[in-house]
Amino acid sequence: MRVSRYFMPVLKEDPAEAEIVSHRLMLRTGMIQQAAAGIYNWLPLGFRVLRKVERICREEMERAGAIEILMPTIQPASWWKESGRYEAYGKEMLRIRDRHDREMLYGPTNEENVVDIFRRHVKSYRQLPLNLFHIQWKFRDEIRPRFGVMRGREFLMKDAYSFDYDYEGARRSYETMFVAYLRTFRRMGLVAIPMLAESGPIGGSMSHEFQILAATGESVVYYDAAFEELDLTGEEVDVARLTSLYAAVEERHDPARCPVPPERLKKARGIEVGHIFYFGTKYSAPMGATVMGPDGREVPVEMGSYGIGVSRLVGAIIEAHHDEKGIVWPESVAPFRVALIGLRLDDADCRRMAEELYERMCAAGLEVLYDDTDERPGAKFATMELIGIPWQVVVGPRGARQGTVELRRRRTGESAELSPESVLARLTA
Ligand code: ATP
Ligand code: MG
Repeated sequence: MRVSRYFMPVLKEDPAEAEIVSHRLMLRTGMIQQAAAGIYNWLPLGFRVLRKVERICREEMERAGAIEILMPTIQPASWWKESGRYEAYGKEMLRIRDRHDREMLYGPTNEENVVDIFRRHVKSYRQLPLNLFHIQWKFRDEIRPRFGVMRGREFLMKDAYSFDYDYEGARRSYETMFVAYLRTFRRMGLVAIPMLAESGPIGGSMSHEFQILAATGESVVYYDAAFEELDLTGEEVDVARLTSLYAAVEERHDPARCPVPPERLKKARGIEVGHIFYFGTKYSAPMGATVMGPDGREVPVEMGSYGIGVSRLVGAIIEAHHDEKGIVWPESVAPFRVALIGLRLDDADCRRMAEELYERMCAAGLEVLYDDTDERPGAKFATMELIGIPWQVVVGPRGARQGTVELRRRRTGESAELSPESVLARLTA
């Protein structure tokens, strides 16, 4: 992508309305633009990151055996009356009437919806276990939308729903998601701490909140240092050990009863990015989602639900990965992998080399953002630092004559003078 042809409305000044760093940087780099309180446009740079976060969520869900569907954003109120949540949900729910005066709502979550799919098609324990997920926009009329995409009213969520015949199965499904969540956040360059949580309005009897560590997080968490070194690579992960590791939010942490020795106990700030629930038959019983067991008896199906705040994660990743110059994207979610900077494009050698390198990078399938404008070098550098692309390749007039370019790492500032061939080889390795 050429900067001269791209749509990247970078702001010159810090926006006054942003209270936290991710919100400030997302507005400043032109990733998002507010449409109304808690509702955002995703501009090209932001949308690329959102898609990458979404893709990692999808891949880890599929790896864990969940199957993707797409449920609508608008739901009939009747399902929620069946489950008993229509009245209970309160003002966070955006209620709508259509032209026939039928009660509808913009979904804040999809338990009822997925139960309706299930009850029409699944009748036997032999069809289980089943886990259906989707990645879809939600609306919650939050009393205080703030911090940009971190607490929006319209936000993108990955939500999965598991169905099992009995408690044992449901517990296995829960544990599978538990591990999938740790893997998902790890792939985004985040350390996630699962906390035993009180179940909110979704209700239930077992629940973990996943907090990622970031200095600017809203809550203070205590956790076993072992979380930072988890081995999640193999197929067989020791779930019993994982779920037994100590972690607690400050309000619940009791130093006198904490089982972790002081040298292994860590304190940090966290941001909730995911929440998993086991809630048994809370929805299946009132909505009549039953399955026939091996003994020929019909029982309500055992369920769990598993949410990840996909759009919140974009902000949360920035909270965990930035410095005084701007964002420092982890490679897996960076909007582009390489920033190619042509320093002086009025110099014929410099332009030739930059253009040629750009063509070769594109041909090699690298995601490259090429600054081909006639901005001052200082301004070009500042913008690339701000938007935080992991690798910078700088082509200057002197290097162009010697046949070298500079390869720089955004995170560390390390740099090396290399031939264009070695740069290509390194970046495509
Ligand atoms: P919170 O405690 O932050 O209000 P919640 O418990 O209401 O969240 P869940 O219903 O568990 O949230 O939703 C699953 C995930 O969706 C959350 O872990 C969070 O990452 C994300 N999420 C929830 N509310 C919002 C919001 N208003 N804006 C952005 N993401 C959100
Ligand atoms: Mg929560």
